[in-house]
Amino acid sequence: MREGGADCDVLVIGAGVVGLATAYAITRSAPGVRVTVLDKEDRPIRRAARVGGVVDSGIHHRPGSLMARCAVRGAAETAAFCAEQGIAHEVTGELIVATRRAELPRLHALVQRGRANGVPVRELGAVQIAEHEPEVRGLAAIHVATTAVCDLAALTGRLAEASGAELRHGARVVRVDRRPGQGVTVRTAAGAEVRAAVLVNCAGTRGDHVARLTGDEPGVRIVPYRGEYRTAERGGRVRGVVSAVPDPEVPFPGVQLARGVDGGVWAAAYTAAVGEPRRAPSPRAFADAVRGLLPSLDEDDLAPAGWGARTRAVLRDGTPADDLLIRQGARAVHVLNTPSPATGAALPIGREAARHALALLDPIRPTNPATT
Ligand SMILES: Cc1cc2nc3c(=O)[nH]c(=O)nc-3n(C[C@H](O)[C@H](O)[C@H](O)COP(=O)(O)OP(=O)(O)OC[C@H]3O[C@@H](n4cnc5c(N)ncnc54)[C@H](O)[C@@H]3O)c2cc1C
Repeated sequence: MREGGADCDVLVIGAGVVGLATAYAITRSAPGVRVTVLDKEDRPIRRAARVGGVVDSGIHHRPGSLMARCAVRGAAETAAFCAEQGIAHEVTGELIVATRRAELPRLHALVQRGRANGVPVRELGAVQIAEHEPEVRGLAAIHVATTAVCDLAALTGRLAEASGAELRHGARVVRVDRRPGQGVTVRTAAGAEVRAAVLVNCAGTRGDHVARLTGDEPGVRIVPYRGEYRTAERGGRVRGVVSAVPDPEVPFPGVQLARGVDGGVWAAAYTAAVGEPRRAPSPRAFADAVRGLLPSLDEDDLAPAGWGARTRAVLRDGTPADDLLIRQGARAVHVLNTPSPATGAALPIGREAARHALALLDPIRPTNPATT
């Protein structure tokens, strides 16, 4: 054990895809560093994999932002990781479809954004939409060539295994103590204690709360947006990924349909109302939202498949943060905003968080872990 009997070198809070990618990046770049990952859920990997397996192209993020770079690089890195690890992954492409005239300027702005981010995009008219997706209706669309789908359960599971980290589930962190020279001690709701030299907060929608537990002021409030997720019983209606034009108030698509690697089709819709972020849409409202893109769909075709939360960080002055936020405190790194969709960007985000964690660990490490 290192540094006054620490249980591990780095403690990651949160076994979502970002926390696991962070653990993986730490042990890849500094073999021998011992990492423990805590998650409040009993089956966090299953939970992380419950939400869709779309690997985003990076089209949605502000050009020049760290998140745009992570997303664009992440799409390619996720494909390479999946190929290397034998994980199902398919580049299906994506149609982002405008169904109302009012959405056309936003669709055009997205084309500019995609091009600025180096994402291959092509503008399509109504007839060309049908050539790509015969059952989808719209006024105009963008075809994004690099969007993919992957087996998210296998991806998260493999990141966990390959990291070599100790994963403890059912471990809700309720208290964090930092003392000079003594590292970080974390207490869970069940009364367990874990001591580490450095803590990395990857708690997703609870990231601001966990930062405050450490005594660091996050500088943002994280607003969770509830996303409902349904499977389309009679699949075969979309060939790849089909998304609505994002609402200007919310950066991610309000409605998305995708054919997963198993051939099954799922739909996701998000409650976008600020101030009512957790209100779930009724089955009728959900089906109506999806029918905007896919008129042939019946309400009965959709079976509930769960829900999840997308994060949106809001700065102190009330403006939404539009980039990945990684803040560093004494012996703590906080990943505070992982703008959705973040799954495909997780490998570069994890590397960025790992770089911060190892920079904190380096001066306090008594031995060179690469040689132990
Ligand atoms: C319905 C739906 C569909 C989606 N589809 C896609 C998609 O197809 N592609 C895509 O890229 N993105 C998608 N997303 C978004 C994607 O899920 C998020 O971008 C991603 O989950 C962010 O990962 P994360 O690791 O930052 O956070 P999370 O996955 O939220 O992980 C954070 C973890 O921290 C744990 N935690 C929190 N507080 C504590 C605590 N106090 N103690 C211990 N553990 C704690 C939580 O239990 C959780 O497991 C979807 C989201 C939803 C809701």
